[in-house]
Amino acid sequence: MSTTAPQPPEPAIGSVTDRLVDANRRYAADFHDPGMDAHPVLKVAVVACMDARIDLHAALGLELGDCHTIRNAGGVVTDDTIRSLTISQRALGTRSVVLIHHTNCGLQSITEDFRTELEHEVGQRPTWAVEAFTDVDQDVRQSMARVRTSPFLVHTDDVRGFVFDVHTGLLREITTQ
Ligand SMILES: [Zn+2]
Repeated sequence: MSTTAPQPPEPAIGSVTDRLVDANRRYAADFHDPGMDAHPVLKVAVVACMDARIDLHAALGLELGDCHTIRNAGGVVTDDTIRSLTISQRALGTRSVVLIHHTNCGLQSITEDFRTELEHEVGQRPTWAVEAFTDVDQDVRQSMARVRTSPFLVHTDDVRGFVFDVHTGLLREITTQ
C-alpha cells in the first residue's frame, strides 16, 4: 500500500492551446473562402472589453466581415486603441465607432495601485496606466471623448458608447452629458 496520497494530475502545459488547434482543424475542414477583402462591410469599428462573457458578434447581430473588433481590458481607449482605430479608418474605410464597456468589469475591482504593486514585485514600473475606473458610465464618456478629440481619426461624428449588462445581455446607451 502506498504511503503517499494520490496526487491530482498536473494539467499538461499547452493542453488548452492543443484543444484550440484541434478545433481549428475541424473548422478548416468545413471552411469555404468567403472571398472578402479586409474592408469591414458595415464600416464600423467596435471597441470592447475583453471580458469572456461578451459574445460581441452574437450580441450585436454581426456577421463575419462586418466590423473591426478591438478588445482590451476594460474596452478603454488607449494610445494603442487609437492606433487600431486610425488604421481602421484611414486604411480600411470604417466610419463609425461603437464603444462597449460592461457591468461587473474587472477594472472596477482594481485601482492604479496595481502599478505600484507590480513595481514592488518586479522592480520595474509599467509605462502603461491600468485605466481602472469606478463609474462605468463616466468611463464610457471619457472613452468617447478620447475618440472624438483624437487628431489622427478622420471620422469622429458617429461615436456612440454603451454599457453591456452581463446578466441581461442588453446594451444601455451612455449619453455625452
Ligand atoms: Zn471588463
